Amino acid sequence: MAICNTVQKKRETGLVDGYNDIKTDMEASMAEEIIGVIGGTGLGDGLAEHIKRAESKEIDTPFGRPSGPIMVGWLGARKVAFISRHGPGHTLSPSEVPYAANVFALKKLGAKTLIASAAVGSLQQEIAPKELVVVDQFIDKTFRRQSSFFANFGAVHCEFSHPCCERLRQRIVDAAKDVSAVTHDKGTYVCMEGPQFSTRAESLMHRQWGGDLIGMTAMPEAKLAREAQMCYALIALASDYDCWKEHDPSIGKHELLKEIIGNLTAATANAIALIKVVLSIDGDLCDDSCPCRKSLELAVWTPDEAQNKEEKEKLGVLFE
Ligand SMILES: [Zn+2]
Repeated sequence: MAICNTVQKKRETGLVDGYNDIKTDMEASMAEEIIGVIGGTGLGDGLAEHIKRAESKEIDTPFGRPSGPIMVGWLGARKVAFISRHGPGHTLSPSEVPYAANVFALKKLGAKTLIASAAVGSLQQEIAPKELVVVDQFIDKTFRRQSSFFANFGAVHCEFSHPCCERLRQRIVDAAKDVSAVTHDKGTYVCMEGPQFSTRAESLMHRQWGGDLIGMTAMPEAKLAREAQMCYALIALASDYDCWKEHDPSIGKHELLKEIIGNLTAATANAIALIKVVLSIDGDLCDDSCPCRKSLELAVWTPDEAQNKEEKEKLGVLFE
């Protein structure tokens, strides 16, 4: 980031000698940033294969251990810290994922930007299976997950009207123009507790609420990323239509499952292609002037003298 600012200053002051200077500085800047990546269903193992010079890190946090080891390595010119949300072998159900430990561990490793992926069901005809959505809004229906880092520290209320980083979202939407997959530039993700899928009545209700997608994992991840002062964006992968839409009765259960897995595999390949393009774009993906990076500035309502000091020290990386 420091180097990105330097490039910007050089440009403003006319001290950039030529393109090569910019390029060299950009490459150095890209090498300096660590981009956090959380891989959901499908993407977890798929993306890991593309990470070069990977080092596996076991990170401990005040909220326990993350879903699994974090892979720190290179995706093209960018350094990434990658975690598979459901753990090695997909053993964690959405309610059991240690969201707080995952986000905290990535911040502890230095990631200030977080790109997540998640498989979803589509609530809208125009979002077809295999397509991608750069989510911009959420409706949170989860009820048995830790949704804040600050329970023992004091009262902290982060602004959350725009739950994803608009700057990062725009970078992804722009990158999508270079990917063949259909990518929707916005969508409202309804996050349910699960693990059972919706009833038809619920699915119809989610559509009436204005939901475009249904999933089980984006929350409280996005809330925690905001509390950690990270820029967060989510790429949703549509695997099928949710049950508001009647399936063709002539297609058997096994055939249907095969079709959904096929859709998810195709959507995963699309999401990997998109993430690779996002990471290959010149320029900083991290930006300390982004509002997300100052989300705690006015959020702490408990006065200094009443805050739990020991807890504040434990949570230090969130304030960085
Ligand atoms: Zn941001």
